[in-house]
Amino acid sequence: MYLTRRAFLFSAVKKPLSIGGIRFGVETNGRSKRRYLHIHGNETTARDVLKEHLKTFKGVYYFVESQKRNVAVGECLIDPNRMFTAAGARKSLERFNREKSAAQIDAALALLEKDRDSFVRAVTPPKGGLSIAMHNNSEGYSIKDELPISDKSHVPDEANPRDFMLVTNEADYEKIAKGRFNACLQKTVRTDDGSFSVLANSRAIRYVNIEAALGNFEKQKAMIGFLEQVLR
Ligand SMILES: [Zn+2]
Repeated sequence: MYLTRRAFLFSAVKKPLSIGGIRFGVETNGRSKRRYLHIHGNETTARDVLKEHLKTFKGVYYFVESQKRNVAVGECLIDPNRMFTAAGARKSLERFNREKSAAQIDAALALLEKDRDSFVRAVTPPKGGLSIAMHNNSEGYSIKDELPISDKSHVPDEANPRDFMLVTNEADYEKIAKGRFNACLQKTVRTDDGSFSVLANSRAIRYVNIEAALGNFEKQKAMIGFLEQVLR
């Protein structure tokens, strides 16, 4: 295809991806069916691990452009890991914007709605590919919270329940469960909270969420390194 110089320059500039005004930086390393997502801006260990990872491992990487967990959509705030379905987004908006009017909430929902399909298409891996999200948690959340709603679980690292992988594909889970890291399989949607794992389950996307305690850089790096070894 012939491009004018002007068109070429524009094609070479990486346009950030956005949904409802929430911007994501996009970084690409070569060609691969891997897609990586960093969605909570305050989870800085996860971002640091992924930034290092992308120097070695091919794929497309998406980084939320925020330092905070919740982000603005219109005049409201939302947890960005609740925006992947309309029902989940409404619940999150209603929770975090109690002082706003119904019209303001509806306007924020409409902004998300307008971009959701193209955003989801961008972050969804191609057929047979794998989506990996990186999160950090603090006291009060661990694999123990996920066990009651998991189909299978593997907890060899009992002393560190905050470090675990949440997996949607059973074949992937079985490979991960041969290793030394905590993992749980959630292959069915139970509550639509609008998170990426709900979207992954409803669309049969192979997805692994790597959770680690905030600050646990080496551990989270080891977890994603292990994943790259056992999953193709
Ligand atoms: Zn998170």
